[in-house]
Amino acid sequence: MLSSAHSVDQGPIIPRSAAEVNWKQALASAFRDWHELLDYLQLLPQQLDFSIKAEQQFNLRVTRHYAAQIRKADPQDPLLRQIAPLSEELQQVPGFSHNPVGDLESVESSGLLHKYHGRVLLMISSACAIHCRYCFRRHFPYHEHRYNEERIQQSLNTIKADNSITEVILSGGDPLLLSDSSLQELLQKLAQITQLKRIRIHSRIPVVLPERMSDTLADMLASTRLQAVLVIHCNHPHELSTVNRQRLLHYRQRNITLLNQSVLLKGVNDRVDTLAQLSEQLFDCHVMPYYLHALDKVSGAAHFDSQPADIARLYAGLQTRLPGYLVPKLVKEIAGEASKSLYIT
Ligand SMILES: *Cc1c(COP(=O)(O)O)cnc(C)c1O
Ligand code: SF4
Repeated sequence: MLSSAHSVDQGPIIPRSAAEVNWKQALASAFRDWHELLDYLQLLPQQLDFSIKAEQQFNLRVTRHYAAQIRKADPQDPLLRQIAPLSEELQQVPGFSHNPVGDLESVESSGLLHKYHGRVLLMISSACAIHCRYCFRRHFPYHEHRYNEERIQQSLNTIKADNSITEVILSGGDPLLLSDSSLQELLQKLAQITQLKRIRIHSRIPVVLPERMSDTLADMLASTRLQAVLVIHCNHPHELSTVNRQRLLHYRQRNITLLNQSVLLKGVNDRVDTLAQLSEQLFDCHVMPYYLHALDKVSGAAHFDSQPADIARLYAGLQTRLPGYLVPKLVKEIAGEASKSLYIT
């Protein structure tokens, strides 16, 4: 709920600006009601196989901005498919489980995940601005836990005590749902940890809630001693609106490194043309394609899964279409490995 985004506002370093009021209002006006969304999209209920049970597992949430990028009156729209709670989600498919990567509980309790050399993942927000149906979070909505300063401080102490850590990744949920003042405070504390070189943010917000991509936030990321990397999550070229592009270009101009990760989703972006266009358009806004993730086998998402042979053909096709630097690395997450693993078919 929005309350978690509001509840973090303590001891403002930066007074709440008009921009912050604006993005919080945009967040509050997100669609949460299926029939309201259908009306807006000029669709009839019988055109989609909505499931109230799927909706109860992981409730509907779509920002107005994202909804505006969905084509009207098209039940097959690739953006709509990512957010619509459909009865396909209720299929039980062998190999798909509640916790495919196997580390969710430990993350939830500590908020800090140190799996790979040199970098740690710090979960600072439990909420998201949009609910993506393919996400493992569908089974771990974390009940909208509050931003917990004590827990964060413990994590900072752990980081400080380990000289091998040079990069902190802010993750969630969506870390950019934190208020400017909380983010600023956290950035200042991180900058004081001398061995740290980089701060990385993983967020879907640049795509779904461009109102939050304020100049204030760009200032904060541009002015910290740490090198700032923003990894956005964009799956389809239609997700890059004019507004998104302008905001990304502004951030790039402030020397914030921009990368993108996508999830390969059947019926959404599993075509060479779509992925090639996505890379081209990302680069138009100076965002480098970074990862293309094979789907995590989470129950409820089996209808997004592609066959290994199709994935191999698709990726080979993409490699023949694009310069090498615009081909994202095709990876999957395997529990216990020391890095993301290259997807080999
Ligand atoms: C994905 C991930 C990272 C980041 O990995 P990179 O390959 O550096 O992008 C870091 N920590 C955890 C726990 C991760 O799952
Ligand atoms: S964590 Fe990312 S992919 Fe998952 S629901 Fe939130 S925004 Fe979507």
